[in-house]
Amino acid sequence: MPAGFPDFRLGTVLATSFTATLTERRGDAVERIPAPHRLVDWLAVNGLAVDSCTDAQLDLARELREAIHAAATAAAAQDTLPAPAVQVINDRSAEGRAAAILTPEGERQWRLSSASRVEDALSVIAADAISVISGERDGKLALCASPTCQAAFFDTSQSRTRKWCDMNTCGNRQKKARFNANQRKNPSSAQ
Ligand SMILES: [Zn+2]
Repeated sequence: MPAGFPDFRLGTVLATSFTATLTERRGDAVERIPAPHRLVDWLAVNGLAVDSCTDAQLDLARELREAIHAAATAAAAQDTLPAPAVQVINDRSAEGRAAAILTPEGERQWRLSSASRVEDALSVIAADAISVISGERDGKLALCASPTCQAAFFDTSQSRTRKWCDMNTCGNRQKKARFNANQRKNPSSAQ
């Protein structure tokens, strides 16, 4: 695997995995697709392989990412969806030509109209965002409880009580912080 892939937070929901390419949004934000080749890497691990990406296509991708973030955050808070964000999501969704393909194993794959069409990949992501934000899919949009994150994520847990966008990062950090606070309160319980 090329170096740097562990930098990506890969969730099970394409749209929110994509918004998670900018992490710690309310803290020291980390851009995980700082250059076109990083977007190519991200698309590849998410089943949307493209040959190349231009600076302009990266800009389109980041614009879509922020639009999804804004709309999903509003939806999680049950606010009115921001019209400019909805416009961007709809434009990207309409501009792509990707086909859903059923594999012999019964899995869905995406076939882009050509390998250089980042726009096709973005349309798949935009359509995924629409299915999540519209409430069409089983789950609930929520905001991460980490104060430096507050990312919108899609909670598909049975109880719909997930608190963090990602257990391995935000969830763990919060647990560690709580553990350390307890240690300070009860130093005798330290091992
Ligand atoms: Zn988080």
